[in-house]
Formats: sequence, C-alpha cells, structure tokens
Amino acid sequence: MNDHIKKRVAAVTLGCKLNYAETSTILDDLYKQGWQLSTIDAGADLIIIHTCAVTKQAEKKCRQKIRGIIKKNPSSRIAVIGCYSQLNPQVLSEINGIDVILGSNDKFDIKWYNNIITGTIPSPFVKVASSHTFKDIYPGYSLPAALGTDRTRAFLKIQDGCDYGCSYCVIPMVRGKSRSLPAEQLVERAHLLASSGYREIVLTGVNIGDYRFGGLELCDLLRLLEEVNVSRIRISSIELDVIDSELISLVAASKKIVPHFHIPLQSGSDTILRAMRRRYDTSLYRDRVQQLVERIAECAIGADVMVGYPGETEEDFSQMYRFIEELPLAYLHVFSCSVRPGTTLALQIDNHERKSVAPQEVARRYSELVELGRHKEARFKSRYTGKECMVLFEGSGPLRKGMQQCSGYTRNYLRVVVERADSELKQTMTGNELHVLIDSLDDDLNLKGRVLS
Ligand code: SF4
Repeated sequence: MNDHIKKRVAAVTLGCKLNYAETSTILDDLYKQGWQLSTIDAGADLIIIHTCAVTKQAEKKCRQKIRGIIKKNPSSRIAVIGCYSQLNPQVLSEINGIDVILGSNDKFDIKWYNNIITGTIPSPFVKVASSHTFKDIYPGYSLPAALGTDRTRAFLKIQDGCDYGCSYCVIPMVRGKSRSLPAEQLVERAHLLASSGYREIVLTGVNIGDYRFGGLELCDLLRLLEEVNVSRIRISSIELDVIDSELISLVAASKKIVPHFHIPLQSGSDTILRAMRRRYDTSLYRDRVQQLVERIAECAIGADVMVGYPGETEEDFSQMYRFIEELPLAYLHVFSCSVRPGTTLALQIDNHERKSVAPQEVARRYSELVELGRHKEARFKSRYTGKECMVLFEGSGPLRKGMQQCSGYTRNYLRVVVERADSELKQTMTGNELHVLIDSLDDDLNLKGRVLS
C-alpha cells in the first residue's frame, strides 16, 4: 500500500487476554503491510471485531457490539473474527453489514483484510477452517508499533488450544489441540517488549500450565523469561493440576514472577467436579491453595466459579459455598453455566442424562456467590490499608477540575487509585513502579493511596 492510499484499521476485542494478545499481532501485521492504525472514534476503513464464545452471554454481548458498531460506522468494512466466528459463522452471517467472518486460524491471514478493502472477495465472505486441522500456532503479543497505547503491561501468548476435555467447555472445539510456541521465539519477543518500554509481561494461553516445547515446560520457560529486562512477569490463569512444588518454589524465590494466580475452581462439590471432568477434587484444590499462600509472600489467588451446572443440587451448592467460604481467596469471578453446542454436557442434556437447574435457582445461587466473592475481596483488600506497596501505574484521566486520577496494580494484582492535582500526572506516573501508601478502601472496594517516592 502506498502512503497516500493508506487504509485505516481499528479493532475491538472481546473476551480473554489471549484474544487481546492476538488482536495486537494482527494489527501489527497490518501496520507492517502499510495500514494506518486508528480507533473507531477517529474513523476506520476496516473495523475488526475479535469475538468470544465461552458462554451464551458472551455471544450475546458480541452480537450487540457488532450491531452497534455497524450502525454507527456505515461506511466502514466490518470483519468479525475469533472464537464466535469459528463456532457459529451461520448466525453471524445473518447479521447485515458484516463483510468478513474469519475463524480461529484464518483470522491471522492478512490477505483477507486487504482483499475485502480492494473488493477482490465478495461480501460477506466466510473463511472458517475446521478446528481439527489446526496444527500451526500463531503468535500473540502486545503491539510494539504505533498504536500509542500506554506501554505498561504486555500480553505474551505462549500456548493455544487445550486437551483437557472438560464436559462443558467449547474452547477445544474453537481453538483446537494444545500446542506451544518455541521458548527461543518467546524470549526474543519478551526482549522486544522490554525494549519497547513494557514493564510487565502477562503470559497468556488457553491452558498455559500445559506449555511444552522441545523438552521445555512452563517452569523452564519462566526461568528463561526471568532474564528479560522487565520488572514483572505474571502467570495469570493456570489450571490447578499443574501447580506443583517446583512452580511454587520458583515463584516464591523469584523477584520478577509476581505472587498472583488465577486458578479456575468451577465447583466446590466433588460430585460436580467429577461430572465436569475437572482434574482435581476439593481436597487437592484446598491443599494447593494452602501451599501457595503459606510459601509465597502476599500471594493473591482468584478463582472462576460456575453456578447452575446441570444436575447441581442444593446440597452441591451449599458444599461449594462452604468450601469457598473457608478458602483464602482474594476474589471470585462468578459465572452461570452455559450449555454450549457440541460439548459433552450438551449431549448429556439432549439424552436426558442431566437436567438443567431452574433459571430462578441459578440466579439466586449466582447472587449468593457474587456476594460471597465481594465479601472475600473486601477482606483481602482491607489487609492492605495502612501498608506500603509497589504500584505499577497504567492509565490516568481527569477526575474533576484541576485533579487527575491515576491507577495501577500491585504485584499481587490489587488495583490502587491515586488522586493528584497535577496536570503532568500521566507523564510522571504511567509506566512507573512507585512506592504507594494505601490509605483507604472505599465502598466500591477501590483501594486509594498516595505516592511516597
Ligand atoms: S482446562 Fe477445561 S475449561 Fe479450561 S480450556 Fe481446557 S477444556 Fe476448557
């Protein structure tokens, strides 16, 4: 593309951190091919919407977003990509105004974006390969070029796909078998991110504990990444069964790998965990969580939990509630179970082997767990009032006349807000890791503090 006909591209990402990392890679590739990176507000010839299909609610949110974007941007070409495109291109192709639908692998092929702009493919155009053919693994890492984003936290994709086969999960169908990127390539990318100014690298993947390439596993990769010049490496979400003594010792001794784990729990009832085909029971989960908090200073552990799994009785739910109540968790992400087409669970429902929980019951259990999660979060965060923490500042914005607000995260993932009457706040704080004294926790569970250095 010549400069004078540079096309502008904007992207919107829904779903997980993996999607964010992959969007960045696609934009970076387009940028290298001469596209100009833009935002929806500034206007774009092509808008890429990167979708999620993890639950029915996620799909609904995607459809609403797509319709809203099409309505507000009638002259832009629209590409819808990612897990929802892979799982259900038919539904998406019924939405008027979508020009291209690309599945999980096809979204990385830049030619489709060029071709829709030059009119060399018809609109709507659908390209969705079967996930059984997914062999390649495409990179994903935060953009090193030209988006003008705050260079604070970068996502680095290390792995894709999953072989675990949990009964309710659609992800293996849309992202294929587990596969990993070579450590050498990942370390090289991490150096690039560090030299671009990023201070924290967040590892992403579908099941990053399953990382393996050329005889190296996750702990080997972490040791290599510790040599990179960033101040923080975050493991983020990891399955419980891969948290072993080696990993715990590594994090406990590390100055860079931060003490934060997000460990999907899903249920606190052993009957339901077995039905879900999860690879642990409650006693193993309790044991590992205890080990983490005992051996790693200031360790924060968050969990995903699901209510209303078909067949979940009141007793199962009570067990889950009591189990979570006793666990030293810092926060919960609560979901209602969503039966996804093509999964083992969907088949069991069709065969009347499992019965759905009544919607009003699901809603009650959901609210009870959200409230429990709020309580646990408040308790964990309140331990930090009056304490000093290192906060890596990210974004800032006007608070009221003459005042700015800046926020960032502690090493163990507590968001802290600082207010200052300082118009230079962004320049002086964003991207810096500073000593903060935490003063208070407000009713919305925001930690507020002031900078000490
Ligand atoms: S571990 Fe289970 S829930 Fe997670 S992606 Fe794999 S199959 Fe899905």
